[in-house]
Amino acid sequence: MTADDGGRAGELARRLQQVEQRIAAACAAAGRDRADVELVVVTKTYPASDVALLAGLGVTHLGEARHPEAGRKVDECTSAGLRDLTWHFVGAVQTNKAGPIAGYADLVHSVDRVRLVTALDRGAQRAGRILDCLVQIDLDPSDRGRTGQRSGAPPADLPAVVEAVAAAGSLRLRGVMTVAPPRRDPAESFDRLAAIAAGVAADHPGADRVSAGMSADLEQAVAAGATHLRVGRAVLGERPPLR
Ligand SMILES: *Cc1c(COP(=O)(O)O)cnc(C)c1O
Repeated sequence: MTADDGGRAGELARRLQQVEQRIAAACAAAGRDRADVELVVVTKTYPASDVALLAGLGVTHLGEARHPEAGRKVDECTSAGLRDLTWHFVGAVQTNKAGPIAGYADLVHSVDRVRLVTALDRGAQRAGRILDCLVQIDLDPSDRGRTGQRSGAPPADLPAVVEAVAAAGSLRLRGVMTVAPPRRDPAESFDRLAAIAAGVAADHPGADRVSAGMSADLEQAVAAGATHLRVGRAVLGERPPLR
């Protein structure tokens, strides 16, 4: 972009390069091909102008976590002529927001209950699209009381949610996602996710995506076989508190 971005383009380029180096090192350590890992840059709380700068740096996969912020940003980027962007919705989805989200998201990472499956399916059908979905797993549901609301299906609920997505006419089951529970070793959590993912993929060919790893734990996620990393702060900088 132009010189009037206050140095933001340079800052994003530097930070993105650092993240790329981390991913490359993690792939090398794990004997994995960098091309098998998708970096999703999570731009929540940051403006569409940052998306434009990131697109200029070659980023094509963007993540958003909240509606309506996400929808507005997708619209702004489309109006600005930014094409070929893939939008990932990674945050908790309220059932009554599923309709619009199904209209603008390309991949929803956070499908965690059958009621939400029904609502997303209806929204995707109304929008005339087939919506790709990951089922989000909460690997430590017992911890919910202390951490407040965290989304994700408890492992016991996973089969019902997986089968509901697989059976939905306008949804396509693509795999699983988790956010590493706090106060646990992320490597262990991502290994558990990988085992669950293998089971889902065995039953549902094509459901082979594993979304795991954020700014703090992307190395562990790559080591455990993640196909999608959701990285916000390490690229964009610290966010103001979300609420
Ligand atoms: C915000 C967010 C991220 C990115 O987190 P960082 O710590 O900023 O990298 C990843 N996943 C989800 C679900 C998020 O809400």
